[in-house]
Amino acid sequence: MRVRIESEKRYNRSFTPLSKRQKEHPMRSIPKVFALLLVSLAAGGSLPAQAPQKVNPPDERYKVDVLVVVAHPDDEAFFTPYVARAIYDMHKRVAVIFSTLGGSGVNRFTRERGPAMANEREIEARDACAKLNVSNVWFLDGKDTASQNLLDSLSNWGHGANLERLVGLIRLTRPEVIFTHFPGIFIGENHGDHQATGVLVTEAFDLAGDPLVFPSQLAGDTKHYEMYLSNLQPWQAKKIYFGSDAEDSKQFDGSGPAYSVKEISPSQKKPYWRLALDSAMAHRTQFPDDIARLSKMSDAELEKMMNDPNSAWWSEPLTLIFGKSVVNGKPTDDVFAHIDETPEKEGLFHSRDRNDQAPPEPRPRIELGGPWQFYAAFYPAHGLSQLPLAKQPEIAIKNGATLVVPIVVLHDATKTLPITFRVKVPDGWKTSHGEGPFELPAEASTTLPILIETPTLSAAELKKAVVQEVTVRAEAAGQSAGEVKLGVLLRASGLPE
Ligand SMILES: [Zn+2]
Repeated sequence: MRVRIESEKRYNRSFTPLSKRQKEHPMRSIPKVFALLLVSLAAGGSLPAQAPQKVNPPDERYKVDVLVVVAHPDDEAFFTPYVARAIYDMHKRVAVIFSTLGGSGVNRFTRERGPAMANEREIEARDACAKLNVSNVWFLDGKDTASQNLLDSLSNWGHGANLERLVGLIRLTRPEVIFTHFPGIFIGENHGDHQATGVLVTEAFDLAGDPLVFPSQLAGDTKHYEMYLSNLQPWQAKKIYFGSDAEDSKQFDGSGPAYSVKEISPSQKKPYWRLALDSAMAHRTQFPDDIARLSKMSDAELEKMMNDPNSAWWSEPLTLIFGKSVVNGKPTDDVFAHIDETPEKEGLFHSRDRNDQAPPEPRPRIELGGPWQFYAAFYPAHGLSQLPLAKQPEIAIKNGATLVVPIVVLHDATKTLPITFRVKVPDGWKTSHGEGPFELPAEASTTLPILIETPTLSAAELKKAVVQEVTVRAEAAGQSAGEVKLGVLLRASGLPE
């Protein structure tokens, strides 16, 4: 078998005419035609007049105005009131990408679990999108990861492979604007998969326009080996917007354009929330009880529910948090303002925030590590320094669970460092690891977790629970090495689904 393949290769290379293979595939005799043409030109002949051969443009069926990229089936609902407006009344084209199938969590409708439930959720996600006439729906290969740490999610997904796939889909769909999750930590659902999706999309926004990034996606039609090459073009989307699941959504007021969810769609004669709600009813494995209850409600009852801020599914108005843009305009401008202008800046390196004036920081000193350390570097690197962030680092966890406070110590790489940590916790909380003296190796930075056991609260206590403060202080050679504060809210459930 191997010998035969080798001989075929040799035939192709030497253009031996009319091999069996060439008879079967007439395109393979093109080189001979080309050779004859060269002979004709060399002899002073001119090209015969002929109709130009058409080169196909990119496939218009997949070009979109808005690309929505969210973590799980049902997360598209972050944006569906606006998507309904864009599709029905602005005649925009929309595609949706989910980074996971949503295989974790509980199936509340039937008995299937894990991968089987993920298969069901894929169909539910497609149905939800189809109700808004969105049929271009793709899934990345992220594994639904129940964690509040985006780094857990990126690790479990395979960060690189999913970034490559997402960049390929941006080059295929050529969106003007992209909507995704806010890459940041807030008290709220705070799902690691949501944050990881926001991070992946921000990276892809910056990279898809760079021809040096995943160049095989851009390499063109070669006839012989085209099956490996995508024949796409670099693509720079113009703007990126975020949706947040922070409990306090008021903090994002004014951080981007806001759109009424109660406005009546002129073409559909229904409020945008109603079109979004009808779409969300596809997610039976996630909230079958709600769907059953809502299905029995009259239009008037639904209207009353959605007009009550305590029971409404969407805040009024819905703010799209402005991430960044490569065209002119203000953060609160309409999503499509300036969208036809030529980009002022392109790609990752042009959008990096400059921070040349930052004073040199003293060492040794401590900072919050883990995701907080990542975001501190991520925002300026991706031109997102103006994002509205939590005033103080904060997190919500399940009462009775162990709180992990990741600490990074920045110190002198040439010598070991004796350092002492003191942890101040609220009454009834107990530090189980990380307090006291440590000797750190000679390296520029060392990470250490502080572990704190939180109390189990009664239902009444949970209702009254407010954000509490944990403080970690460090001392080296009798001098302060700084302190780190984290606001912590204890609640009934911790890990996101
Ligand atoms: Zn989600």
